[in-house]
Amino acid sequence: MNEDSKIREIKGIGEKTEKLFRNMGIETVGDLLRCCPRGYDIYEDPVPAGEVLEGKVMAVKGSVWGSVQVSPNRKMQVTTAFIKDLTGTLKVVWFRMPFLRNTLKSGSSVVVRGRIVNRKGVLLMEHPELFAPAEKYEEKRNTMQPLYPLTAGISNQTVIKAVREALSQLNLKKETLPDAIRKKYHLCEYNYAIRGIHFPANKEMFILARERLVFEEFLEFVLAIRKLKEKKEHTSNTCPVKRKEEVDAFLTKLPFELTGAQKKVWEEIRENMGGPYAMSRLVQGDVGSGKTIVAVLALLEAVYNGYQGAMMAPTEVLAKQHYESIAQMFGKYDIPFQVELLTGSMKAKEKREAYERIESGKADLIIGTHALIQEKVSYKNLGLVITDEQHRFGVRQREALAKKGMMPHILVMSATPIPRTLAIILYGDMDLSVIDELPKNRHPIKNCVVDTGYRKTAYRFIKNQVEEGRQCYVICPMVEESEALEAENVTDYSAMLAEELGNGISVSCLHGKMKQAEKDDIMERFARNEIQVLVSTTVIEVGINVPNATVMMVENAERFGLAQLHQLRGRVGRGRHQSYCIFMSASKTKETKKRLSILNHSNDGFYIASEDLKLRGPGDLFGIRQSGLLEFKLGDIFQDAKILQNASEAAQMPEAEEIPVFSRVNHENVHIL
Ligand code: ADP
Ligand code: MG
Repeated sequence: MNEDSKIREIKGIGEKTEKLFRNMGIETVGDLLRCCPRGYDIYEDPVPAGEVLEGKVMAVKGSVWGSVQVSPNRKMQVTTAFIKDLTGTLKVVWFRMPFLRNTLKSGSSVVVRGRIVNRKGVLLMEHPELFAPAEKYEEKRNTMQPLYPLTAGISNQTVIKAVREALSQLNLKKETLPDAIRKKYHLCEYNYAIRGIHFPANKEMFILARERLVFEEFLEFVLAIRKLKEKKEHTSNTCPVKRKEEVDAFLTKLPFELTGAQKKVWEEIRENMGGPYAMSRLVQGDVGSGKTIVAVLALLEAVYNGYQGAMMAPTEVLAKQHYESIAQMFGKYDIPFQVELLTGSMKAKEKREAYERIESGKADLIIGTHALIQEKVSYKNLGLVITDEQHRFGVRQREALAKKGMMPHILVMSATPIPRTLAIILYGDMDLSVIDELPKNRHPIKNCVVDTGYRKTAYRFIKNQVEEGRQCYVICPMVEESEALEAENVTDYSAMLAEELGNGISVSCLHGKMKQAEKDDIMERFARNEIQVLVSTTVIEVGINVPNATVMMVENAERFGLAQLHQLRGRVGRGRHQSYCIFMSASKTKETKKRLSILNHSNDGFYIASEDLKLRGPGDLFGIRQSGLLEFKLGDIFQDAKILQNASEAAQMPEAEEIPVFSRVNHENVHIL
């Protein structure tokens, strides 16, 4: 067996499991080994029952005290037990596991391990893992159990077993990096890193392993970009776009004046589209900086020059939102062009009609998802393509367009706040424009960091805001253990909140287990104000613009990366009403307060992420993935900024030439347009 062998060759993997793995994108043993854990569970020493802390996952060892109760509620049977040691008694509850009654014999010694929550002032442990008898815990104590990203049908244990088996049967390659690079940057060997990332003996081993693999991931990425850059000379401008007075006239009719930064970027784009070379430009601007209007101006100018313009959004919801607001704008300002929407979910007949209008040139401006660049679509004369929230578009899309024989101008818009030096590494040879200023008329968002005792007050506040006509987001606590539990959690929470807020307020929820169409439907109803309060996990879309939403309440804020909180906060403060952000935190520690207070003092996403990292320290590599935007498998551009810097430096070494590029780099992630 080697890394190219099919996973069927691993003992214990049959046809059914093979198929499930394939759904996760894993076909070969190498794929399996490169599927890194998304976190680890560390089975720490049990703590005394009287010393549990709210919000933490802890193990408690004790004896079952008294009899075990199972509530009669059929829908959600709750099993309650008490675990007692010398320091106190801890209440423990399980959901839908009435059979535990038989295991939990009064007086027997057990270990329970789960999250401590506060229910009506009482600390209890919810839905823990049970070790009975207590000795069973010893086997796991102080080990780091990998937690893999899973798809439905496959359990963490299945993946653990497969990886363990593969590692025992396989003679791992010793090294994939040139020695000189490995020595210079003090990186551990490949085989050590692979073992260490799956089954680290301790935290130190994990840190070494991860550092090495992240380095390699970044290095391959940087090399891939460089390669593309070498291939691409400047493409000459086959779609010259002249300045049009009509666009200037449109600008004067808008209800607001462009900010200085918007004006500067718009000028850069104009200059570029009329210049000697095809545009390939990244526009970076924090959430709410007003990227959309700049895109509209560029599209208008292209269209007034007789070209077609296209704008791609990563999701249907965003595409529809752009379509509606642009069509409305064109109506209002008497702009004589035809706007077309094209998304994957449209009916076959609707699509066919849209294709016809696009091909004949009747459609001037086409807005949609990546359906825009599918084979079936042919354009009459496409002059400009804009992609919004670029991270999910890449080289392949550009190639798809080139295959259609077109060299349109390309504009990519991103809200990922990264410093210039980093952007140059990540975006290769794209030109960079930055909108580094927010519109002036904004009321700054009022932030507060509060503890759970404030929850009722927060609900009253939400109710008041809704009664004034506003809308609210509530981000639910994360459930790290499983997506299914998380979905359940969000559903329960929104039912509870609906009851709390009373009749006449429509509360809905959104989570990762839902089908895309269902999510889209809910987001649309929220955008139309048919739903006033949206309870969600962090799946809520980047870039969504509901200016009427004024409250963002985040439960368990301490468990999020600050950069992510910053993105969430960006969902409010987009309209003319005062907006509020409520960070609810169960943890009362000084560190938490300090971390969250960084958000109050800055609006610069990268600054926030790097301050966060400083406070948490580099030892804390487990918790929080910051960016979520530029998707590397293991690396994180914020957390691992230093490694990225090193990798890009290493790419300059002559030894780097030996490294085969493109073997493992995910092309979707390479942004050379
Ligand atoms: P983002 O950069 O996050 O995509 P949007 O383009 O969605 O931001 O803009 C957010 C809101 O700000 C929109 O409602 C938009 O109409 C408004 N806006 C954009 N530019 C200005 C400006 N110069 N002055 C006032 N409001 C603006
Ligand atoms: Mg946007």
